Amino acid sequence: MNRDELVIDIRHLTKDYVSGSEKIAVLKDINLEVRRGEMVAIMGPSGSGKSTLLFILGIFQPPSGGVYKVAGVDVMSLSRDAQAVFRREKMGFVFQSCDLLENSTVYENLELPLIYTGVKRRERADKIMEALQRVNLEHRVRQPSNRLSGGERQRVSIARALVNEPEFILADEPTGQLDKANSERVMDYFVKITEEARVAMVIVTHDAMTAERCSRRSLLSEGVLKPY
Ligand code: ADP
Ligand code: MG
Repeated sequence: MNRDELVIDIRHLTKDYVSGSEKIAVLKDINLEVRRGEMVAIMGPSGSGKSTLLFILGIFQPPSGGVYKVAGVDVMSLSRDAQAVFRREKMGFVFQSCDLLENSTVYENLELPLIYTGVKRRERADKIMEALQRVNLEHRVRQPSNRLSGGERQRVSIARALVNEPEFILADEPTGQLDKANSERVMDYFVKITEEARVAMVIVTHDAMTAERCSRRSLLSEGVLKPY
């Protein structure tokens, strides 16, 4: 595996929304390169298109134009089914609200993405423990997720995003609901995982401290991304 391998490669990407007879150009000319081991913060005012860009990165919606490649693969050239498989195998997601299965254990929460990608039972156990070790939560493996603290919940969702060994992780305001101490702790793990597991990270955030911990910052404004 090449250390500096280009994971996300976006060229001249555009997104228009059509409402009635009006066309609104939300993303006008987005260019973004993220390499393995890099952690990029995307900042920008409300309504600037951050969620739109994140949905496109996660292949939940198509761009209107431009090219989006992941590890050299043009994702728009894949069939819908192939895109779904690609998403499950190559991407991990961390949301502000964690969205863990409440009446399930930490183990079961991490097992689900592995079941979806067809990993065998015995192999699943190893992968789950390895991902939990990365966020120092091995001791919580049998805990129901609704009995975890806010910071622990977000660390479980990081482990869940990591368990399939993705090419990159997308995080939407991952510290948005945490206090300062827990935000810093969660960011410590993001930094450590980016460096040790050599994944690429894209983090949408409003929080200056969170952005400061990333290796690079971009500002989305007027439909374009600029270094910040
Ligand atoms: P942000 O996440 O930065 O707040 P969004 O990506 O949610 O911004 O929205 C960017 C712009 O696109 C806003 O003006 C929003 O109203 C518009 N928009 C978002 N989703 C849709 C949609 N499905 N249809 C029409 N307009 C949309
Ligand atoms: Mg948004």
